[in-house]
Amino acid sequence: MSTSIVWFRRDLRLADNPALAAAARAERILPVFCFEDGPLRGRHHSPNRNAYLLASLRELGDGLRAAGAALRYRSGDPAVELPRLAAECGAEEVHVNRDHTAHARSRERRVAAALEEAGVKLVGHGGLTCAEPARITTADGHPFRVFTPFHRAWLEAERRDPAPRPRSLEEPAGIAVGRPPSEADVAVDAAAKRRAEEAKAGERRSRELMRRAIERAGDYDRIRDLPGRDETTRLSPALHFGTVSALELERELASKRSDGAKALRRQLAWRDFWLNVIRNNPGNRNEEYDERFRGMSWRDDPESLEAWRRGRTGVPWIDSGMRQLLEEGWMHNRVRMAVASYLTKNLLIDWREGEAHFMRHLLDGDESQNNGNWQWAASVGADPQPYFRIFNPVRQQERFDPGGEYVRRWVPELRRFPDGHLAAPWEAPEEVQREAGCVVGEDYPEPLVDLRDSREEAISRFRDQAG
Ligand SMILES: Cc1cc2nc3c(=O)[nH]c(=O)nc-3n(C[C@H](O)[C@H](O)[C@H](O)COP(=O)(O)OP(=O)(O)OC[C@H]3O[C@@H](n4cnc5c(N)ncnc54)[C@H](O)[C@@H]3O)c2cc1C
Repeated sequence: MSTSIVWFRRDLRLADNPALAAAARAERILPVFCFEDGPLRGRHHSPNRNAYLLASLRELGDGLRAAGAALRYRSGDPAVELPRLAAECGAEEVHVNRDHTAHARSRERRVAAALEEAGVKLVGHGGLTCAEPARITTADGHPFRVFTPFHRAWLEAERRDPAPRPRSLEEPAGIAVGRPPSEADVAVDAAAKRRAEEAKAGERRSRELMRRAIERAGDYDRIRDLPGRDETTRLSPALHFGTVSALELERELASKRSDGAKALRRQLAWRDFWLNVIRNNPGNRNEEYDERFRGMSWRDDPESLEAWRRGRTGVPWIDSGMRQLLEEGWMHNRVRMAVASYLTKNLLIDWREGEAHFMRHLLDGDESQNNGNWQWAASVGADPQPYFRIFNPVRQQERFDPGGEYVRRWVPELRRFPDGHLAAPWEAPEEVQREAGCVVGEDYPEPLVDLRDSREEAISRFRDQAG
């Protein structure tokens, strides 16, 4: 009897899962998830994501068991665990959905080599992205450095067919199920569980979010930049853990004609772009993509860094985003761009500090997306924001939160400030501050730096560094 293993990683779903569908073609199937120390406890581990992972795995396990094959849990190095499991159940093939980060690719190579020694084949599938990153290249076969031409090629690139959801599975007998680590073991506390729960972990609720996103896609271009409305899809954790399929979402969007659906589909191209960038530049995880900015002298200022992390910079737009991140494990994209620009340009603090803080808290924290976007915002990455175009957080707030809905939600001490002074409360006359019940310097921090002076200093530093 033929037996295949399906090795789940961040593709925690039954629907449109090509690795699962391929493994299910064997007569017997063994689904497995292997807990590794790195993601669970390593440099970028996150209690929020661990909570999301455990909840999504529970649901995946239930679905697989109902179909006939229980999910097996193993802990340790997959290059050891998978060959051992293959020997136990007599599997000839292990199916995975290919990942593209440096860690994932080197792990895949090690696992493939270990399996090969045991006469077992590792078979990769394209279940993570909309289009296969390795196939999207310039006409002369080089990786794209700029998003717009990448996007054009991406729209034209071939798509795989959606994979059928397996209904009835048969498993080999006598293979121990194993156990996931306990919540305490991976630092999951009540707050992390609440955040994962509110983000709707698990395939069923992720699919509900996806359906809602498709229904409302027509409005996306109008609402996407308004954090106060909070009507973006919130699918990023689901896309990170693969509780929904990017391809399935993209197919639905491609069948719609509205500008909103087009704009949303374009954001999925950004996701594939950053996966493509990290795939071709694995060194980006440690250093700047743009060589000119390697070795740049950033400011060592632990107090300002901590104020930024806590949402106590004295700039409401920045503090709102940073407090939303701590509370929800998520932040609106418009504000992510602003807080990253503020840290790296106004405070001149190393983008790696911001990247690490985001990775610690974001439910959607994803090396490819986070690193790509941080390097973009710090003007050191692929196709970056030019260093002389620095977001002004006061103007951003006035433009994207004119009624102050977002800022009042996250910085409640400013709730009674009049709209006209809400973006720069330090400039409000003292009687306005007293009237609003919030005096800057007493009830809300003074700004850490002068926005104009720090902007000029940043431009000059970046210009000198660029040479
Ligand atoms: C400094 C910084 C760090 C970021 N870190 C991450 C991260 O770790 N993980 C992550 O998934 N996204 C990251 N993003 C991108 C973006 O902010 C989030 O994907 C988005 O806010 C998620 O909310 P949503 O699902 O409601 O997005 P929507 O606006 O509804 O977009 C739908 C989907 O499109 C994709 N998408 C949207 N914007 C981007 C973008 N700028 N880059 C790549 N894909 C995008 C996401 O998969 C998202 O879920 C980062 C952005 C910045 C500026």
